[in-house]
Amino acid sequence: MMIRDLLTVSQVLQDIAGVKVKNRQYACWLHSDRHPSGRVSRDDKRFKCFQCGVGGTIFDVVMLTLNVSFIEAKKYLYQYYNITPPETGGREAKLQLKRLREERELEAAFNEKVNSIYIDLAAMHRALFKYDDGSLEHISYALQELMNELMSNDPKRRVEAVRAAEKWWGC
Ligand SMILES: [Zn+2]
Repeated sequence: MMIRDLLTVSQVLQDIAGVKVKNRQYACWLHSDRHPSGRVSRDDKRFKCFQCGVGGTIFDVVMLTLNVSFIEAKKYLYQYYNITPPETGGREAKLQLKRLREERELEAAFNEKVNSIYIDLAAMHRALFKYDDGSLEHISYALQELMNELMSNDPKRRVEAVRAAEKWWGC
């Protein structure tokens, strides 16, 4: 529920501006108004003075009476009537949650891929080492470097390592 649906302008006029509304008429509190020049709309959501022309909603009553901004007026009404503000950005929060979940899923898939590549490389390294007579040392070294990169804390380096593994080692 929005605050403007919960409150009537008559109630706010009375409580905040000290203006009594009778038969949808009120004496304007913004100037001396011996005869009631103010009118409240049938749905009791708007007011208007036909002498000074000032009118508006519950928020305007607060803004005019307390000389505050719209935001301050809104906050004031929530506090004054002890109303809990509706959750702001509910839709946005849900979208953000969805995006986070998707990101996490992508990350999990990537980590799985990294692990499987690491296992492949480790197997390759073991196989090479088995027959190593010293001539494959540079390859063994390159493999080890790549495995280190795969386990790097920097996600960018891990992505690069996966690319390299796919390109050079056919993982
Ligand atoms: Zn007036």
